[in-house]
Amino acid sequence: PLLINQLAAGEVVTRPAAVVKELLENAIDAGATHIEVRITQGGMGMIEVVDNGLGIHPDDMVMAITRHATSKVADIATLQGINTLGFRGEALSAVAAVSRLTLTSSHDDSGVGRQLHVAGILADTPKLTPVVHNRGTTVTVKDLYFNVPARRGNLKSIGTEFAHIETIVREVALARADVTLSLFHDNKKRLLLSASLAETDTNNNNSRLPLSRLEQALGIALTSNAIPITIDLSSLLQSGAQSIEASARISGWLWTSQQSQSQTTLPKLLYVNGRLVKEVLISNQLRQLAASAQLDGIGYALYFDLPTQWLNVNVHPTKQRIRISPLNNIMAHLGHAIGLKLKSIII
Ligand code: ADP
Ligand code: MG
Repeated sequence: PLLINQLAAGEVVTRPAAVVKELLENAIDAGATHIEVRITQGGMGMIEVVDNGLGIHPDDMVMAITRHATSKVADIATLQGINTLGFRGEALSAVAAVSRLTLTSSHDDSGVGRQLHVAGILADTPKLTPVVHNRGTTVTVKDLYFNVPARRGNLKSIGTEFAHIETIVREVALARADVTLSLFHDNKKRLLLSASLAETDTNNNNSRLPLSRLEQALGIALTSNAIPITIDLSSLLQSGAQSIEASARISGWLWTSQQSQSQTTLPKLLYVNGRLVKEVLISNQLRQLAASAQLDGIGYALYFDLPTQWLNVNVHPTKQRIRISPLNNIMAHLGHAIGLKLKSIII
């Protein structure tokens, strides 16, 4: 079991930032509105994520760190219409296999929670200790790769590993503007991204990521060169078969490069139902659109809200790749709308 867990850990826990990503996703799946991330030594000393989500019932604490235990999918068939970020029950057990992990959680307002410790092998069932804890969950990961020296040796400098962590926190902040996120490194505050309400588009009552959150999360001012994007895809919904709630749209922002801005201020972010994904066909399309409008570079944060039946997220261990079913139709709409916007820009 140790070997299997370490193999799984190799796929999921590639570096400290990957741990941060999994812990943040769990906090968001638990409905947290405040998440604090505390890092020491670029994540090699400690990674701690504190959330105010639903918490874990004492009876489920051990399950949470058991491989392939997930509270999120009842059976494999459900994988089709998945709308939580996690679903394989792999992350916590994989992290526990290669670190000293403490899980603390409270699921009610009693002010009391339970705590358990795991370090590498899960030989005996961990004991639960009662502790003082507000509703929510704290996961503390210390000494990452203490039992996998080769992995530890592969890590880059503290600065590099922390930069990756900071990028993850910014990306999550852009996925969920309604969540307050803070990031500390060696006890110094590095990011504070307060929750902000979505902007409402006066034309169609659809919401969009507030520009202020985008600027905060990226740490740059965009006001003059950010273009709001709203693309209605409801014509692609089959009438009748879909529920009335089903919606299909793209919203977000696209911005053009300014000479003073380096490539690093031009992140290219595609979110599908709140999940940051890599979709090469769409990113290639956007690059070509920018090129044909004679733009050196564009950055974007585009949010695809699509019916879950259109998606297959179970394509890759990191869950970053996704299969979208009417992709050609979506790209046709996207190309048309963004092509028009870009042609209207005069630099
Ligand atoms: P997955 O997210 O794929 O279900 P994980 O290994 O990441 O698997 O987590 C296992 C289970 O532990 C989750 O299904 C959830 O029930 C519980 N869990 C983990 N982190 C949290 C958290 N921050 N708040 C509440 N429950 C959590
Ligand atoms: Mg998870």
